[in-house]
Amino acid sequence: MKKEELVRITDLSFKYGTTQVLSDLSLTVEEGDILVICGPSGSGKSTLLRCINQLEHSHHGSVKVLGMEISGGKKNRKNLTEVRKRCGMVFQHFDLFPHLTVLDNVAIGPIKVKHENEAEVKERAKKLLDLVGLSEKYDVYPSQLSGGQKQRVAIARSLAMNPELMLFDEPTSALDPEMIKDVLSVMKDLALQGMTMVIVTHEMGFAREVATKVCFLERGEILELTDKDQFFHNPTSDRAKEFLRKIL
Ligand code: ADP
Ligand code: MG
Repeated sequence: MKKEELVRITDLSFKYGTTQVLSDLSLTVEEGDILVICGPSGSGKSTLLRCINQLEHSHHGSVKVLGMEISGGKKNRKNLTEVRKRCGMVFQHFDLFPHLTVLDNVAIGPIKVKHENEAEVKERAKKLLDLVGLSEKYDVYPSQLSGGQKQRVAIARSLAMNPELMLFDEPTSALDPEMIKDVLSVMKDLALQGMTMVIVTHEMGFAREVATKVCFLERGEILELTDKDQFFHNPTSDRAKEFLRKIL
């Protein structure tokens, strides 16, 4: 059976002012794919991810997520609202609500956005917090957590919405080394459960283990878009070879 396409980007270009940030990118993500986006700083990785849920929208080209066109502004607004409900995004900085407990941070989305039953959502939120190793922390506030713990709350918060696709933008790059492992291990578990994910990361060890596909960007262009083994063992561009030599 053909796998469902969760993301289809076609001829995506984007400028900040006169600076060309993304040039004519096309890619697809199928159900169950774990696409790692890597490349030097400033190559457009975050911008590409932000186009996938239209946090950046003044681009050229088409962005389809879960089969729906979400670019084009107003006329596809309904699609975008639908896509945002069904996709999770985790950023480098995990802006949790400081005045809410950990449990409430995780539960608030489904309660406020999806109007789900509060008691049921809280039960689910507890299970998710157990899953990310934070069973002891239901009732504490974000300020009482380490960076790694906050990031795991942010992941649980996204998962509470039952996303069909998860986007991660350098989720571990603001963390101390010993905390990186805990967050990556949560992401690895998600991968094993079959979650479709698009992950911007410099953690190439993790990428080698977990990715199905790799996209290597430089100066807003895709230099490699290939399956994981091909990327790590036989990259075609000199630039990717050099990148791998430096980073591995
Ligand atoms: P990456 O995530 O790969 O480091 P970004 O997508 O953040 O790259 O940025 C790509 C390019 O866009 C960089 O050259 C960056 O300087 C530029 N850029 C990013 N954000 C802005 C902004 N708000 N205004 C102007 N230029 C920006
Ligand atoms: Mg970035």
